[in-house]
Amino acid sequence: MALPADGHVHSQWSWDAPGGDMARTCARAVDWGLPAVAFTEHVDHTPWTMPDGGTLLGEPFDVEGYRAALAECRDRYPGLRILSGVEFSEPHWHAADLRALVASGFDRVLGSVHARPAGPGGYVEISHAYASVPAAEVVRGYLAEAARMVAGNTDFEVVSHLDYPLRYWPASAGRCDIGAFEPEFRDALAAIRRSGRILEVNTREVFHADLLAWWRAAGGRAVTFGSDAHHPDALAHQFRAAAEVAAAHGFRAGPDPVGPWTRE
Ligand SMILES: [Zn+2]
Ligand SMILES: [Zn+2]
Repeated sequence: MALPADGHVHSQWSWDAPGGDMARTCARAVDWGLPAVAFTEHVDHTPWTMPDGGTLLGEPFDVEGYRAALAECRDRYPGLRILSGVEFSEPHWHAADLRALVASGFDRVLGSVHARPAGPGGYVEISHAYASVPAAEVVRGYLAEAARMVAGNTDFEVVSHLDYPLRYWPASAGRCDIGAFEPEFRDALAAIRRSGRILEVNTREVFHADLLAWWRAAGGRAVTFGSDAHHPDALAHQFRAAAEVAAAHGFRAGPDPVGPWTRE
């Protein structure tokens, strides 16, 4: 089976990816026969309150530098489809900023929840939320926020890593079992389906095959695959397994290798 496009990759143009390397990532993609790669760099407008009490806001995205690098890679790897993109945090909280950004044109816009409200006017990154909020509540809160994210008319097409909070599930809360949150995941997936958006199969950490089964049951028609790589070596991580499970649920590559996999 041919590998799908990697629709969620970070390069050195993402503030949290110092080990990213757009050109080397493209070379990898060519070596491995990927049809396409989308460089979806972070755009963050939500400041996080850090454990030490300080505030962290991701560095601004250098769109011009990024586009120049992208053009260079397209020249250097003409056989590879290289998509422009962004991973925009909490797009529903910053809809005007997103609208202004996408006006310049991106091939792929991912919407992601990374934070939750904490205290008056503050936010914490999900990985830090477990220190002060019961684990199950972090996951349920995350899924409810994801449902709110897709409810509006915001300018993004793909919902990234719906299982994001499970990456940071604390050992102190016992075994991490996605099945314990099946109703909440199904509710969020139904909301995504109603919004007409695409579900991303994120393979950076544990690949949760259950999500594909629940997405199909919710009437989901389209998926993209995202390694969420922050380093060239992590490109297309676990893609073989993810593609096989998606195919078993009836999702197929379309005529355009850059497009999502869809089912009838
Ligand atoms: Zn993310
Ligand atoms: Zn990402």
